[in-house]
Amino acid sequence: MKIPETVIFTKNCLMEYKVSDVKPAVQIHTCRNCKHQFAGKICNQCGEKVFEEKQLTAKHFFHQVIDFFYHWESKVLKTIKLNTFKPGFITKQNLNGIRVPYAKPVQLYLVMSIIFFLGVTKIGSKDYIPTMFDYQYYSLSDYGFLKWAKPADEAIESRIFKMINDKQSEIADGLSKTSTPNSKLDTAGGLWLKSRLVTDSLYITKAQMPVYINNTAGKILNLKFSSSIATYGKSLIFLILPFMAAFIFLLFFKKIKYYGSALTLSVHFMVYNMLVYLVTSAIFYLPIKWFHSNAGSYFMAPFEWIFYNKITEPVSSFVFGQSFEFMHLVFWMPWFFIAFKRLFNTVWWKNLLISWLCSRVFFYLIFGVLKKALITFTIWSMH
Ligand SMILES: [Zn+2]
Repeated sequence: MKIPETVIFTKNCLMEYKVSDVKPAVQIHTCRNCKHQFAGKICNQCGEKVFEEKQLTAKHFFHQVIDFFYHWESKVLKTIKLNTFKPGFITKQNLNGIRVPYAKPVQLYLVMSIIFFLGVTKIGSKDYIPTMFDYQYYSLSDYGFLKWAKPADEAIESRIFKMINDKQSEIADGLSKTSTPNSKLDTAGGLWLKSRLVTDSLYITKAQMPVYINNTAGKILNLKFSSSIATYGKSLIFLILPFMAAFIFLLFFKKIKYYGSALTLSVHFMVYNMLVYLVTSAIFYLPIKWFHSNAGSYFMAPFEWIFYNKITEPVSSFVFGQSFEFMHLVFWMPWFFIAFKRLFNTVWWKNLLISWLCSRVFFYLIFGVLKKALITFTIWSMH
């Protein structure tokens, strides 16, 4: 081996260098925050930056503001874009410890939910808000092999129905107590609901009274329900994340190691899902809003023609559920498939099966579990 001229071996075999090879001594800073001594521009203990007096100028201040928004925004947008078009990529980077170039999962989730709710409000889509009687749909026993779960489903449904009924009679009781003072009822026990015009006024006889009170209670219940569920529906969707993550964790038990990794993947999937929902709602509702045209409904028509025509319908609904569910799977399955491939390098047929299973479980979690939980919680919390 040829030894370069500049390197001289001493007896102890230590290497010595010519003075010109030695780099200038690095400047050592003392961190103003944690008093740690370090070389470089950023404290390697707490992350504080080296302080210079010019940072106190107004110019620097404004520069920083613009920088913050620009970088932050471009970072979040870049992450959303990658997460949408390269499923699993951001998750993989995150799990491999490459995190600085992308928005953090929690940050990403929060920004996406803000975009989502501003978006759907602007578009006027209310599909994600359940109505009171949605509790009757998407039960476990709707899935062929889970028919035996019927008694459990019916028990849950009748519990919710009873809750709704009780709440309505509670309101009706309140109404009849406040409206029975004799001053309001005439001698025959009836009630005049007087309007400004006599022709618009309404007389309710004593016999009609219970029906009238019950109807009014129903209307009040509905109003109360829809005003509070809109708020809960918006804010509680993250509740399914831990369940989704638990399911993914179970599926990839050998490959994932940590539940937290499954949570990260679920958050990234949810961010994708919110974006898809927003875009598809825009395609569907904006033509109605702007041109009173339902052109947007033809967006999914090709799928309907192919998978839900007379011939294919039985097979499709066996594999993918009703067409409403299928329209979700169309967007979810490819994302899962690519993400799982990228993260776990699963064999294609296994991957296909797992992506399909995950999508169907996720659909059930949203429509079968979360919706019912939301309805129950909303009625329970009403007063
Ligand atoms: Zn420090």
